Amino acid sequence: MLQATGNNQLSVMKKQPLAIITGGGSGIGLAIATTFVANDIKTIIIGRDEKKLRASQKKLGKLCEIIVCDLTQLHQIPSLIQQIYSTHGHIDILVNNAGINLKKDFADVTDDDFANIMLTNVQSVFTISRETVKKMLLKKKGVILNISSMASQYGIPKVIAYSASKGAIEAMTRAMAVELSPFGIRINCIAPGFIATDMSAKALENDPERKNKVLSRTPIGHLGEPEDIGTTALFLASEAAKYITGIILPVDGGNSIGF
Ligand code: NAP
Repeated sequence: MLQATGNNQLSVMKKQPLAIITGGGSGIGLAIATTFVANDIKTIIIGRDEKKLRASQKKLGKLCEIIVCDLTQLHQIPSLIQQIYSTHGHIDILVNNAGINLKKDFADVTDDDFANIMLTNVQSVFTISRETVKKMLLKKKGVILNISSMASQYGIPKVIAYSASKGAIEAMTRAMAVELSPFGIRINCIAPGFIATDMSAKALENDPERKNKVLSRTPIGHLGEPEDIGTTALFLASEAAKYITGIILPVDGGNSIGF
């Protein structure tokens, strides 16, 4: 695992850790993967789009493996985790980063829309966490990082299902932390502010009013970069954070406390 060194960098000790990052082929997930491999963590990135995953693997180099899987196919998850565990013998870090958003007026959101967001953003997170925890319990060690959003810190219009899903992720983080920390498994959650990725571009680029609102309540004054989440994830996954569990950490340029 990782430890803080005297010069404030995080370095790897002894055994090379293995991390799984869902949605690691783009945006925030790719930035987390980039930070992990730069710190000598073997990193498996999961997504639906094989072409995207292969392009990211090329950038990340030999410490990166890819697995193509649609995580909404819940029945595939137990064998996916078993296959990773059988191959590597340990799973040290799981980052539940994959997620989808839907911007629509409240009254137009269909039951299928709502269920689809919850399936990707909540149910699949539960299923892959449960399967991974079974393996982590065997070693009495592990780290799980969840990703929520400003949508669970305050009310944002037109993202009802996404807001519900991210609120659930924060509640699950606390519930998992109290139940699993006694067994050596730490669970934390990063709540990104508005980070420059495809997802935020879709939500903000054709909506200048929303973008101005975001920036006007962000004291640091600009969108975050995916790397800001990457370095935070590395810290929370490292031994430097060994006494931290159950927290929701905003990485948001002050957006969540902005006036
Ligand atoms: P992104 O670039 O759209 O990344 C989302 C990733 O999730 C993609 O790599 C996608 O890969 C994967 N994914 C989606 N559905 C999947 C499924 N069914 N199975 C497997 N993989 C799936 O967006 P991002 O901005 O980096 O978002 C990453 C996370 O950060 C999300 O949870 C999001 O809610 C959260 N977040 C983002 C922001 C922001 O400002 N960008 C703010 C707060 C929170 P494939 O297309 O290959 O399936």
